[in-house]
Amino acid sequence: MLVDSFGRTINYLRVSVTQRCNFRCQYCMPEKPFTWVPREDLLSYEDLFKFIKLSIDKGVNKVRITGGEPLLREGLDKFLAMIYNYKPEIDLAITTNGYLLPKSAQKLKDSGLKRINVSLDSLKEDVVKKISQKNVLKTVLKGIQTADDVGLKIKINCVPLKNINDDELIELLEFSKAKGYPIRFIEFMENNHANASIKGLTSDEILENISKKYDFVKIPRDTSSPAQYYRLGDGYEFGVIEPHKDDFCKGCNRLRLTAEGHLIPCLYFEDAMNIKKAVESNDLKEVENILETVVRNKPEKNKWGKDSNENEKSSRAFYETGG
Ligand code: SAM
Ligand code: SF4
Repeated sequence: MLVDSFGRTINYLRVSVTQRCNFRCQYCMPEKPFTWVPREDLLSYEDLFKFIKLSIDKGVNKVRITGGEPLLREGLDKFLAMIYNYKPEIDLAITTNGYLLPKSAQKLKDSGLKRINVSLDSLKEDVVKKISQKNVLKTVLKGIQTADDVGLKIKINCVPLKNINDDELIELLEFSKAKGYPIRFIEFMENNHANASIKGLTSDEILENISKKYDFVKIPRDTSSPAQYYRLGDGYEFGVIEPHKDDFCKGCNRLRLTAEGHLIPCLYFEDAMNIKKAVESNDLKEVENILETVVRNKPEKNKWGKDSNENEKSSRAFYETGG
């Protein structure tokens, strides 16, 4: 079992398979051109799998594949099948922007994958274009439908942004409710890579917005999920991910591995240790040492909370770390 110095059990691993992306979401990526990490600096699927296997053996029971855009990396279905076949009972999921789902949903389903989270920030073409800087809404909606049709369970992720999509939260909730997908509203996490003019809604503002049309009750928090869930009168549940709340980090059970092999204990901080050399040379004892050290050094909390300096932003890039 992996337990950090604050007594939190670490059982959730998020693995980014690429930092590349076909979108340029304003809350995630720099606007100016920048260079990607060369492909040869990435860990192969075999080496990523060595680490995942070791983590599973040490108690990880939830693995999420993310990016950048994970569906851009070739052979993702085969990688998912490797994980699934190692331990089918693992809670295996991916997070995607949905653009490539029309072509890949069936392959993903055939790999053993059961669940996907799809990012959907608006139902208006021009707003999606403004946020992601690509004209992609129709294809994303088609991707969601295709994934649903092949039997993948879907959750929707939405980042509410001031004066951009904050007039649409009820529509997004109703779209998700009608389809039977839970939606999670994620508070924007300030970082140095996002467009500096972007402002997110706080969880209180998100709830106030929804309460204009719906009554809901707070459901006791499941500490294994990053989201606080709320239930509407008809039983539909939606979530809010609230990293700015003081107690958000109390139940944090997550570690993150980037495509280049950086093992990251907290989404906010720059701290990381690299496993690339150790996995490539098959030094699994050293990989285990790194894993245990990173768990031990996991910070108590992020600095997005209200006690933090407002101008302080994380320097971690979400497209590298995987959100
Ligand atoms: N490309 C995929 C996608 O967009 O779903 C996976 C990677 S993305 C980094 C993972 C999640 O992080 C997405 O739901 C995205 O909306 C969220 N995200 C990215 N930047 C964020 C930020 N600054 N604050 C809050 N959420 C963010
Ligand atoms: Fe790409 Fe996802 Fe970041 Fe948008 S949030 S730029 S889709 S990695």
